[in-house]
Amino acid sequence: MPSTNFYANGGVINDFNEEFNRDIFPIEVVGLTNQKMDTSFGLLSVCININHTKISDLKIQLMSPDGTTIWLTNRNGGNNGQDYQNTCFTPKGFSGYIHEAKAPFVGEYTPDSRMEYINNGQSPNGFWYLIIEDLHKENIGKLNSVSLKFGKNPVFNTTSSCTVNNANACQCSYPQKDSLLLPDLVILPSFSVNQLQEYSYNDLQYPGQVRVAASIANIGEGPMEIKGSGKWYCGNTLVDSGTRCTNNELARQTILQVIYKKVNGKLVKIYKEAGTLYFDEKPGHRHYHVDNWIELRIVKKIRTKKRVVQKIIGKSNKVSYCLFDTGICLENDNLCKINNVGYNVQNLKNYGLGSYTDCHSQSQGISVGGYDTYGMLYEGQAIQLPKNLPMGWYYLQIEVDPLHLYKESKSSNNLFEKKIFLQKQ
Ligand SMILES: [Zn+2]
Repeated sequence: MPSTNFYANGGVINDFNEEFNRDIFPIEVVGLTNQKMDTSFGLLSVCININHTKISDLKIQLMSPDGTTIWLTNRNGGNNGQDYQNTCFTPKGFSGYIHEAKAPFVGEYTPDSRMEYINNGQSPNGFWYLIIEDLHKENIGKLNSVSLKFGKNPVFNTTSSCTVNNANACQCSYPQKDSLLLPDLVILPSFSVNQLQEYSYNDLQYPGQVRVAASIANIGEGPMEIKGSGKWYCGNTLVDSGTRCTNNELARQTILQVIYKKVNGKLVKIYKEAGTLYFDEKPGHRHYHVDNWIELRIVKKIRTKKRVVQKIIGKSNKVSYCLFDTGICLENDNLCKINNVGYNVQNLKNYGLGSYTDCHSQSQGISVGGYDTYGMLYEGQAIQLPKNLPMGWYYLQIEVDPLHLYKESKSSNNLFEKKIFLQKQ
């Protein structure tokens, strides 16, 4: 039996250099002959050891020999966390989710995206790469080691029998009406409640900001999917993709929403004009983002005799996101609970329909039962507070699709609201 454990030494993780820094560490896998990675054999775990004085500076990805790339951990560790010590990533981490854990992350964690995507039929042999990006200046560190383990039964079953090729198993609530399998976007409260912080004006990095994570889940009957139109614009002028416009921004592509409809036992796609996407050049991203995906707000509610008036204290720009499944709602975890209802394979029709692994320009989406998370330290996940804001109770609001560009089965549940106490600014 050939070895199923592969180990590599690391090296220095270079500091952010104002532009972009990416350190790439190869791990060679040899001798797993006549093996391909699928549901019966594949990658079981990835383990790392890192010394770093501020690990939330780091985005760490794993790239397999065919180029499939998954996020292991992206800017986790909060304001002061140091080091990854014997941290292993497995598809269903025994110690929980990495984004919920504390440094130095000793144990076995579910990564920030879906490890199952690696086990896609490719051969395990060849060069794998651990890709580490340091996204902030000053703190530095070192990768001491990385190892990969392969073995049997790497994937746990997380889909219903409804697939594009088995549409008979797909259900729709309104076969008489329109037979559409529409998505339903919601904000998962657990992520935003666990990653929410106010920074004072004395803070060097985030002065006067409220930062918060947002995870958008699809609890509808069909995927939330978009398709690039192939048409790129600077303003209203049609240009080549990759064109830099006179305002120095890159060209934007108009996108279509792909809506699935069940017709005579098959799924057909219909298209609806929707928003735009563009190539986001910021460190930690460098992929395509759908515009105007969410908006963050802090509001004060003022009760008058007749009604409650809402005053906006601060709001984010409309934040753009790469749409993909960073995770999927599982039974027995509390991430996908909304008003005490847990969403998972038991109550989501067509659970698992769709599969979106990456931030492409042609196609992106969120599967039925999937969710897409942006952590509190990601760019844009912030609301700037006004100076001299009085201490007191306010409401945090997170709204997905604030411009109502996308068709859903229910859009009255797109707003998440939480009462929060803010210190004097
Ligand atoms: Zn991004």
